[in-house]
Amino acid sequence: MAMIDLRSDTVTQPTEAMREAMLRAPVGDDVYGEDPTVNALQERLAGELGFAAALFVPTGTQSNLLALMSHCERGDEYIVGADAHTYRFEGGGAAVLGSIQPQPIPQDADGSLPLDKVEAAIKPIDPHFARSRLLALENTWHGRTLEFGYMAQARELATRRGLGLHLDGARLYNAAIAYGRPARDVAAGFDSVSVCLSKGLGAPVGSVLLGNAALIERARRWKKVTGGGWRQAGMLAAAAMHALDHHVERLADDHARAGRLADGLRRIEGLKVTACHTNMVFLDVPAARLKDLAAHMTNAGVRLSIGYLPSVRLVTHLDIDDAAIEQTIAAFGSFAY
Ligand SMILES: *Cc1c(COP(=O)(O)O)cnc(C)c1O
Repeated sequence: MAMIDLRSDTVTQPTEAMREAMLRAPVGDDVYGEDPTVNALQERLAGELGFAAALFVPTGTQSNLLALMSHCERGDEYIVGADAHTYRFEGGGAAVLGSIQPQPIPQDADGSLPLDKVEAAIKPIDPHFARSRLLALENTWHGRTLEFGYMAQARELATRRGLGLHLDGARLYNAAIAYGRPARDVAAGFDSVSVCLSKGLGAPVGSVLLGNAALIERARRWKKVTGGGWRQAGMLAAAAMHALDHHVERLADDHARAGRLADGLRRIEGLKVTACHTNMVFLDVPAARLKDLAAHMTNAGVRLSIGYLPSVRLVTHLDIDDAAIEQTIAAFGSFAY
């Protein structure tokens, strides 16, 4: 029996059409800047999202790291959400590899960093302090979209206080679909944006960092230094291009299925749905029942993300159809909480 895998939208299999596109892709040595498919992807995304330059890299973690290292130098500081991916889930890379100090700020329930707290955290220019250089936001965060008004205020603060503004837009296209606005609008106002192709868009590998030419030049250097100089990466860029051509509008299906999943789960006695945004559903299950629930769901053919987030997380994606949603609701319904 094929498992229904709701752990993450990273688990998708490349479609047949995507594999075909990968096979046919013209390639070259990307370290020399000579892979035509990588170059085409970078030019396309820079154009579509409103940036001068772009860099195709192996992972979102590396893309964010390169952004931090390109905005900040040794002894600088970035201001970031205490539950943001770039702070919590990237192994402390900015500090480990960039000698950049994080200044985490507890986030509000919608994922925003209260801007008065951000401003209060900016250090005076004085040898006692790290130099505050960058504010990093995330959209979507746990599936939630930031408000446009908030992003405009963050931009105003960054400009007024001389900070760079970075967006971890791993799921930028989910945000765009949720707003019903072009992805370019979601990226507007940021000095750099990182976008994952390997999440809901369904490419096997790859993220793109966007910024101005000078920032992307610095990022290109750090990419090579951190071992990210891949050679004939065009086959992966071809998968990313295919994803951008065919898998953006369909994110709306993932969001609708997450909504139907949440509705079905809300009707189950003893199960609490704590949030449902874009393609993510979060559940609150009594801690003492988590292990049994995991075993029950595995038996029923459903995999979930349990434990390392405070609650159970379910993520819809390209390989989750309507039948999988029904089967998942039924499996949750046959458990005693
Ligand atoms: C997945 C993710 C990343 C990192 O991407 P990887 O390719 O897994 O390294 C960064 N930020 C957010 C918000 C993510 O969800």
